[in-house]
Amino acid sequence: RVRVRFAPSPTGGLHLGGVRTALFNYLFAKKNNGDFVLRIEDTDQTRYVEGAEQYIMDCLDWCGITPDESPAKPGPYAPYRQSERKSIYRAYAEKLVAQGHAYYAFDTAEELDKNRKEIPNFQYGQVYRDGLRNSLSLPQHEVDQLLDNHTPHVIRIKIPADQTVSFTDMIRGRVSFETNQLDDKVLLKADGMPTYHLAVVVDDYLMKISHAFRGEEWLPSAPVHLLLWDYLGWKADMPQWAHLPLILKPDGHGKLSKRDGARLGFPVYVMDWENTQAGTLEPGFEGVGFLPEAFINVLATLGWNDSSGHEIFSLSELVEKFSIERISKAGAKFDFEKAKWFNAEWIKRSGAEKLKTRVEKVLTDKGITIKDDNYLLTVIELIKDRCTLLTDFYQQANYFFRVPAEYDLNAVKPKWTDEKTNFFNAVIELLKSADTIVAADLEASFKALAEEKGLKTGDVMLPFRIMLVGGKFGPHVFDIAALLGKDETINRIEQALT
Ligand code: GLU
Repeated sequence: RVRVRFAPSPTGGLHLGGVRTALFNYLFAKKNNGDFVLRIEDTDQTRYVEGAEQYIMDCLDWCGITPDESPAKPGPYAPYRQSERKSIYRAYAEKLVAQGHAYYAFDTAEELDKNRKEIPNFQYGQVYRDGLRNSLSLPQHEVDQLLDNHTPHVIRIKIPADQTVSFTDMIRGRVSFETNQLDDKVLLKADGMPTYHLAVVVDDYLMKISHAFRGEEWLPSAPVHLLLWDYLGWKADMPQWAHLPLILKPDGHGKLSKRDGARLGFPVYVMDWENTQAGTLEPGFEGVGFLPEAFINVLATLGWNDSSGHEIFSLSELVEKFSIERISKAGAKFDFEKAKWFNAEWIKRSGAEKLKTRVEKVLTDKGITIKDDNYLLTVIELIKDRCTLLTDFYQQANYFFRVPAEYDLNAVKPKWTDEKTNFFNAVIELLKSADTIVAADLEASFKALAEEKGLKTGDVMLPFRIMLVGGKFGPHVFDIAALLGKDETINRIEQALT
């Protein structure tokens, strides 16, 4: 059975790179009728951030890629939080020690710091191992004594000399590493917690993970994991790896960092992230007005494309079309302008009913009260093609719910004449004589009236728009009047004339 996992560490907000990894895992799992597992890798307690786990789950829900198994929805391999699995890992570390593939190291932080300072390119490994305080260098009775005295110690992997470790990556093909380049990574820390390297291997095995997509930055860790899979006797069960290409800055120069968002004016998080340490609220795609459909669509194009050149895909279409062969090895540029284009497309393609709750939130957050659902739906339908972000609905539609806060008087005042006042008074009379406004009828009589008064339609259309909307924007002005209704249209003209 295909089982993939997304294994974030709860150390902060979920950014583009992280959620792209989650999406690719999800797509692969769903394409193969498999399971998408969320495992929280919280063994590094110094980097743990309160609230990050719930936030990650909320983000996945918002994206529509809710895990099949997670801390919130435990499945057969619970618990799904590594800190709650602490007791599992030690036995495996001890097994590796017994086999000679790992060893105890008693060096204090100060001793290691000293070495790092004094020895250029110091690595805890083959070259220096003997001179340090560990169970490979010290006589057995001394090691026993240190252990009996509960001397703080870690367990490190013993990286073998002169070997080439290789595996076949689903995206990159054959990848090889020389063990002489590797250091003896810590597997179990002094506090009894495993490190990422041990926990990831043990849990991928115990949770029967068959495939794993993760960011390219994890590629250097792969040889350590491969050795562990081998030493623990699980090699046949090792998941197939896929290391996803980097996400690059918009100009293609270097990896997109979390700081680039603020610098270049776009979000990098999925939902707004409250950074309590920095005391800041970092914007997310949801918060700035993206639809999840559009966001998912953007993510999918970061390193993957469909051979047809087609760009708009729903989540279910992505599941159907997704293929590892079409993931590129090269980094993928993130282009915020293009991301906004996707959003505008998705807003256009969504029915008013679907947009309703989100638009309602945008408007009510700005203090607008919505009295009539059907009215809101009609407004959305009329306006949506003009909105790139959901937040644009405020600027594009607020005048449907209240008198414009401001009028662009410069656009009309300089050219105002008494004839125009007369004309609009006549329009008021015209409106009063009708029961309701029908856009096409009003347009015809408005134009006829202008002609009768010797005015060019063009000269009275803009003032009419400003009276209703406040500025030089919006859909067809007679559609606006029809939607505002007879009374409100009269009201706004009267107010403008006084
Ligand atoms: N906990 C790692 C992270 O934060 C997981 C890496 C992996 O998928 O192996 O991304």
